[in-house]
Amino acid sequence: MNRIVAKFGGTSMGSAKAMRSASAIVKASAADPEGIEGCEIVVVVSAVSGTTDALIGLGRTAVSGGDWEQTITAIRDKHAVIVAELGMAVDLAEFFVEMEQIARGVAMLGELSPSTLDRLQSFGERMSATIFAATLRDDGANATMVDAFHLVATDNQFGSANVDFAETARRTNAMIYPLSPPSSIPVITGYIGQSESGSYVTLGRGGSDYSGAIVAAAIDATELQIWTDVDGMFTADPRFIDTAVVLEQLSFSEAGELAYFGAKVLHPKTIRPAIEKNIPVRILNTFNPTAPGTVITNEERPTVKSVTSKKGITIVNLCSLGMLDAHGFLAKIFDAFARHEVIVDVVSTSEVSVSVTVDRDVPAELIDELRTFSVVDVQPSMAIVCIVGEGIRTEPNVLGKLFAAVGSVPVSMVSQGASKRNITFVVAESDASTAVEKVFHAFFSSTVL
Ligand code: ADP
Ligand code: ASP
Ligand code: MG
Repeated sequence: MNRIVAKFGGTSMGSAKAMRSASAIVKASAADPEGIEGCEIVVVVSAVSGTTDALIGLGRTAVSGGDWEQTITAIRDKHAVIVAELGMAVDLAEFFVEMEQIARGVAMLGELSPSTLDRLQSFGERMSATIFAATLRDDGANATMVDAFHLVATDNQFGSANVDFAETARRTNAMIYPLSPPSSIPVITGYIGQSESGSYVTLGRGGSDYSGAIVAAAIDATELQIWTDVDGMFTADPRFIDTAVVLEQLSFSEAGELAYFGAKVLHPKTIRPAIEKNIPVRILNTFNPTAPGTVITNEERPTVKSVTSKKGITIVNLCSLGMLDAHGFLAKIFDAFARHEVIVDVVSTSEVSVSVTVDRDVPAELIDELRTFSVVDVQPSMAIVCIVGEGIRTEPNVLGKLFAAVGSVPVSMVSQGASKRNITFVVAESDASTAVEKVFHAFFSSTVL
């Protein structure tokens, strides 16, 4: 029997109409033509689109003495409209009582801890899962809202918690299987879990995809479906390149690289649990459910797949104070980054200088430490542009074609991963869209710019 985990994103939860479409998709899968026993389906949902931003805004408004009550009213109204348009009675009052208590406490103390901010954000998925389970029931299915607080066990890293997969699998199987079809379809909150200290935590922005993969791995699902607002993974972000086309298939590694370097359609952590359990991941469109989507598997097809970009990058250029042949320079650099818990994305080196990129601000203490053994130059407002595909290994002259395409756009760094599955280069943020367009036209379109 098929065991599907279907994750629905924020836009798929974003209106009454979208919820009904998602509900129809779940019902069709649950009644899978594969057999009378049907297919076991477990649902994971994001918050209604915009809600997580609003809840973060709520915390920040409260802590800074602003009008937080107005923010709560906006969140309440948005959910009330969806529920009213669904024509159902769904009681969300207890969430708003708790939300208000927390916001009042934050405002009174003038303090917003990472743990409190995560607890505030948890209301987004808890409310959408409650509404969506009610929608499924209204459409004649049996469904139960399940709070991932009881399933996903993590450490205490609020804001981007690390998951204890063994404990999560134990809890998930113990909780879900008494609920599983034919008795009831579990509708699990994405994005959240329970910290070691027993509080709500979040898994990082966009993390409901990851929740889907965590649940899929826990129950040994046969497929993880990511239902979103586009037809699959495209050759470039379809929001910016209107001639981009949907890819039929990607390898796990390709999808991982694309997600990591900016293809927002998939959260970068989603792929790891899928690889470990070899679970195919299918990206599908809630608003065009008959489109075949993109399937991500362990099969490696030797073509160049997609171009992506990630803004908000900072380059740190480091030049050794010592002379040529000074050994231990790289080790010292990476040791300093590791101790300050700053993740390095792209690296390029010469004999005496090293450039690295990070996707956050560089802490002043790290810069001070780097200055004890190198000349440091920091370049903010940069973007990584990345071309991905198993074909980079096999197609002749990919680099030549790439640089001919980029042409006059100034490139600050270039790097080719050891896997030879990607080539990344770094440009000024303001040049990113032009660079992506030029690369796109050179590799994926017959119109060369
Ligand atoms: P959800 O709310 O369903 O999780 P997201 O907004 O997180 O959806 O991701 C979907 C968006 O990802 C699309 O609307 C699209 O603009 C963006 N995206 C970026 N790169 C790509 C790509 N290569 N292929 C498809 N979508 C992409
Ligand atoms: N609601 C969360 C966010 O907006 C998680 C998600 O949608 O995947 O980041
Ligand atoms: Mg997303």
